Amino acid sequence: MNVMLLGAPGAGKGTQAAKIIEAYGLPHISTGDILRKAVADQTPLGIEAKRYMDAGELVPDSVVIGLVKERLSQPDTDVGFILDGFPRTVVQADALGEVLVELGKELTAVVSIDVDKQSLIARLTARRTCGACGAIFNVIVRPELLDGVCPTCGGALNQRDDDTVETVTNRLNVYERSTAPLIDYYAEKGVLRHVDGNQDVGDVWTAVDSILKG
Ligand code: AMP
Repeated sequence: MNVMLLGAPGAGKGTQAAKIIEAYGLPHISTGDILRKAVADQTPLGIEAKRYMDAGELVPDSVVIGLVKERLSQPDTDVGFILDGFPRTVVQADALGEVLVELGKELTAVVSIDVDKQSLIARLTARRTCGACGAIFNVIVRPELLDGVCPTCGGALNQRDDDTVETVTNRLNVYERSTAPLIDYYAEKGVLRHVDGNQDVGDVWTAVDSILKG
């Protein structure tokens, strides 16, 4: 099963990807996670990408397309994959289409998680991620986590550098301009399914899972 999660920053793609991994054991290809790891490791690519990420801008298409091509050619993706945060532009979507043809793969489902803009800003600025296990939390829903300790593993909860109000606003503008057109792009290909991402996490998962079960 080859799944793509589409949606604005903060729509819950990472949270739903974690549930898909738990249920179906598919490898998770998150370009944001790959780039954050490169930044943390201070690789040349990470140093280059950080300026764009801190400003809420997109990393150049050629860079992320190269990363995804490389990742999709690894054998663990033979059972399927979850694409999260890629593609983000029509150029990336076209490149992905070509790579999938080369690899003889097709997208099983493109799931668009739809959330209204006001909720996105609130969610992103309240997001905390565990530096140790990667679990994602919202400190509005769970204010006790403002103590900064992950309830799952005891690791430290961090706020992403790009989850500040200023950067979030730019990321949402970039999403509207560059990524939202992909909704029509995949609708025209007949693979797009919508899920109401304003519901609670469990209800979103029920909807996503029923799409995946076909
Ligand atoms: P995310 O974790 O998906 O919200 O991504 C965090 C940041 O990484 C984005 O704001 C971009 O700067 C960069 N990024 C992640 N995925 C892509 C992509 N497909 N194209 C360009 N930039 C990306």
